[in-house]
Amino acid sequence: MAAAQCPVCFTPLEIRTVTPCLVCGANDEHPLMAKYQAFRLPNEELIVLCKGCQLEEFMVPGGWGFQMFPEEQFPLDALSPIPEQVAIEPATDKYCPECKLRYSFLKILAESGISG
Ligand SMILES: [Zn+2]
Ligand SMILES: [Zn+2]
Repeated sequence: MAAAQCPVCFTPLEIRTVTPCLVCGANDEHPLMAKYQAFRLPNEELIVLCKGCQLEEFMVPGGWGFQMFPEEQFPLDALSPIPEQVAIEPATDKYCPECKLRYSFLKILAESGISG
């Protein structure tokens, strides 16, 4: 289903070229990298992360990992790595200029009940 509004803050979404990482993929300062890892979330949704976001967003207090899995001592443990290679190519996704995040990730946050 196409969504025209951010599921978290309801700002109209823009279209952006993104890298495979769901967290930093729309950030211009994060160029396409050599390796991405796909994970399955406890609710079966897929998430793709670059190495930087695995370390910084999922292992650092206050990062998304701790917001999504506050009960985990190491939030990355809540994710199941998927062995298949992630295609390293730019894609197009919707983007919230207010949350500064990709729609694919905002959707996961909204489903997790996280308000950004
Ligand atoms: Zn990233
Ligand atoms: Zn938003």
